[in-house]
Amino acid sequence: MLRKVIDLRSDTVTRPSAGMLQAMLQAQVGDDVWGDDPSVLKLQTVLAEHCDKQAGLFFPSGTQSNLAALMAHCERGDEYIVGQLAHTYKYEGGGAAVLGSIVPQPIENAADGSLPIEKIAAVIKPHGPGLGAHFARTRLLALENTFNGQSLSLTYLREATTFAHSRGLATHLDGARVCNAAIAEGVSLAEICKGFDSISICFSKGLGAPVGSVLVGAQQFIDRAYRWRKVLGGGMRQSGVLAAACLYALEHHFERLEQDHANADRLAQGLKKIDFLQVSAHYTNMVFVKVLQEHCGPLEAALGTQGILAQIQPMTRLVTHLDVSTQEIDRVIAAIKQFFKA
Ligand SMILES: *Cc1c(COP(=O)(O)O)cnc(C)c1O
Repeated sequence: MLRKVIDLRSDTVTRPSAGMLQAMLQAQVGDDVWGDDPSVLKLQTVLAEHCDKQAGLFFPSGTQSNLAALMAHCERGDEYIVGQLAHTYKYEGGGAAVLGSIVPQPIENAADGSLPIEKIAAVIKPHGPGLGAHFARTRLLALENTFNGQSLSLTYLREATTFAHSRGLATHLDGARVCNAAIAEGVSLAEICKGFDSISICFSKGLGAPVGSVLVGAQQFIDRAYRWRKVLGGGMRQSGVLAAACLYALEHHFERLEQDHANADRLAQGLKKIDFLQVSAHYTNMVFVKVLQEHCGPLEAALGTQGILAQIQPMTRLVTHLDVSTQEIDRVIAAIKQFFKA
């Protein structure tokens, strides 16, 4: 019998389960560019309800959902405040600037992933004639949750969004993994989304769908994002096949994220007992491990021969997800132990 590969590189690697494939097969579909796809319409409505917003919009990727959101909030020559390490700034090819003519104003993330309010305050530029004419117009604050697996506190989210609104800024949350945050905090999505004018949520991460993100916000905002989605090439036709996978994921794979968090904790506890390694942190479904440079290549190769995929680096990130069971976590711990014994 072929042994299943244990892939800890990311939570994006999950394959659709039998139940999910069945839901996709049975999906009612139509042409979503014509607004005719009942499964897409349902997903958008259900997500908006979950997040307590007026409307939702289905996208092929989180990158496109974030970009359309930034473009719906900001006009050409506007500026958005974002973390130096944020996905929208660092890992999306500079799309806001390249395609949106939006000026990023990055500021340093605090260790917990938050953007300190005083640092946000310090970069907001004056508007209007005179001095204000010199600057790009500061329009938006973009936060990310979870950030490298860390769930931002509700208190911080309230403070930051209230402050941004008091200074006339809109607020966007890159909530690629906001469902992990909701489970970690023990609150509803709506509770986390409260202070945000828009939230982008990925279904292709821990929720285990093959493709898809949903952007939620007020109807007028979604109307603007809808136009940008078409411009960016994200209008899809019988995408109900994909929306059905996302609806299935929401129903069957949301609460169980708790299991991924428990598995990450188990992995961290197991690895802490191994000399030569240093578990530097673990949050929600991610474990961060320091590995000596000389061990990186050999350890990655040794795990590879046992069907365990991981990118071993001086700061290694291991990610748990629905295709990794608790028994498989124990196998990973045993394999790493064995490597260092040899
Ligand atoms: C994955 C991810 C995205 C979106 O990525 P896509 O691969 O385009 O779906 C956005 N933000 C964060 C924090 C992510 O992890």
